[in-house]
Amino acid sequence: MTAYSGPVFEMAAKQFEVIAEYLSIPEDARARLLMPKRAVTVSCPIHRDDGTTAVFEGYRVQHHLTLGPTKGGTRFAPSVDLGEVAALAVWMSWKCALVGLPYGGAKGGITVDPSTLSRRELEALSRRYMQEMIPFVGPHTDVMAPDMGTNEQIMAWFMDTYSMYQGQTVTEIVTGKPVSAGGTLGRREATGRGVAHLVRKAADEIKVHLGGATAVVQGFGNVGSIAALELHNMGVKVIAVSDHTGALYRSSGLDIPQLVRHASLRGSLAGYSNELGFDPAEMLTIPCDILVPAALERVIDAKLAADLRCRILAEGANGPTTPEADLVLEQRQGELFLIPDILCNSGGVVVSYFEWVQDLQRLFWEEDEVMRREYQVLDRAFERVLARSKQDKVFNRTAAMAIGVERVRGAKETRGLFP
Ligand code: NAD
Repeated sequence: MTAYSGPVFEMAAKQFEVIAEYLSIPEDARARLLMPKRAVTVSCPIHRDDGTTAVFEGYRVQHHLTLGPTKGGTRFAPSVDLGEVAALAVWMSWKCALVGLPYGGAKGGITVDPSTLSRRELEALSRRYMQEMIPFVGPHTDVMAPDMGTNEQIMAWFMDTYSMYQGQTVTEIVTGKPVSAGGTLGRREATGRGVAHLVRKAADEIKVHLGGATAVVQGFGNVGSIAALELHNMGVKVIAVSDHTGALYRSSGLDIPQLVRHASLRGSLAGYSNELGFDPAEMLTIPCDILVPAALERVIDAKLAADLRCRILAEGANGPTTPEADLVLEQRQGELFLIPDILCNSGGVVVSYFEWVQDLQRLFWEEDEVMRREYQVLDRAFERVLARSKQDKVFNRTAAMAIGVERVRGAKETRGLFP
């Protein structure tokens, strides 16, 4: 038992054990790599619009400070607890190390359904959360970003709250801000674009022709909607999409640009069409070339893994596949190519890093430059994962995580016990 006990942290721990065995990491070095450096739990009271007071629980977990400041998103969702946040922080560490960023992993969140708050309440909660975090974060200690349930506006409130306490504008305290408040061009699209870019690389590798290929995308928020749009622009037929309000299916392909417009105006897919409605429970097993889970963690268990009918599984979400499902997918390697989450969705943190660098330098890049550099980093990471998985005949997830864990371990060994 640890403070982080729970199904999501257990999953991160099980995944780590697989890597530790593969890398022959001695038993006494394992907890030092896995267990977070620190965790903060805060209470965030706000005045509700009806005059009552409500208190929400918030968390921030910083996994390690060995390679630089920690970096990670902030999630507003009813599922958020300390264990989930800690697992997400651990995955961020392996991800940042895999793509070569000078960061450790962090994650934060508030246990709240943001759709139940008015805009004023959401602003009050966002500002209060950042205010409680001020002693523990900073541009050179821990840099926040958006995740599920948070967006550019919330990042702007975070940045403003932190800045007002410093008496000066500190744009580099968070990434994923609006461009008008020190954000970078290309951050909003970065994760989804990265997912689609890596799908193209995977398709080349296993000789799937993208023109006319089919895709299914679960989750139609920041990651899912942009990934769907990019795939659509590559000539892929996106035949099904879903969000928390339901699923839509059309065998000849959905009108993705129209769906993106609908979702950005209405906040969800609800109300788009009754005729195209589909059972969300069937989404992930629809036969298709490309499957993109881009919503929640642990949606693919062992049974579902056996039933998947895709050629490429592109994990846009963090942790969508359980370790039990991994055992099944490992057996299906010849028929199904996995782009593991820490690689697949890393475009987000790569461009967050570019935003931080630009903010620190007060020198801003054109969008073309941001995209060119993002794809360069992703290409290099993809090639390294592929080469490792071929060389050691291991599963793509094992290869990706091993590269990340090795880098963190190497830095810890040379620095000593402190960071
Ligand atoms: P978001 O809040 O913008 O969107 C989440 C989407 O998931 C929404 O469309 C929501 O309706 C949908 N959803 C929720 N419950 C669902 C359910 N039961 N079935 C189907 N859909 C459901 O969040 P996001 O930023 O797009 O993040 C999605 C995933 O990607 C998360 O796992 C997140 O950690 C990961 N991720 C995000 C980024 C980023 O830059 N935003 C970067 C890396 C990883």
